[in-house]
Amino acid sequence: MHELSYVVRFADRAIAIAEHQQAGSVQKLVVQVGEMTDVLPEYLQKYYPEVAAGTILEGSVLETEPLPAKVKCNQCGSEYHPEKENNYLCPACGSPSGKVLEGREVILKEVIVDAI
Ligand SMILES: [Zn+2]
Repeated sequence: MHELSYVVRFADRAIAIAEHQQAGSVQKLVVQVGEMTDVLPEYLQKYYPEVAAGTILEGSVLETEPLPAKVKCNQCGSEYHPEKENNYLCPACGSPSGKVLEGREVILKEVIVDAI
């Protein structure tokens, strides 16, 4: 249930951003969910209205978009998207060993506000 803690954190940040921009209201939050996390976008969306209620965020929506995984091969240095059909191996050299560069994070990408 760590989705709720993400929602609380993003809501706090969005409120701070809205206050900083002296926004009249907030339209939406755009959250990127890394492919390699176990965070479920539908839970983020489910919790959001409860967290937003009673704040400047009330009535806005939380949108999610997938953040594709990116791996850098330890063997040859190629950056690639791990594919299941390829057993997640490096497509250039076939090495199974790589460093995950992106895809393990959940990010508040954008807060879209309305002016007063
Ligand atoms: Zn490689």
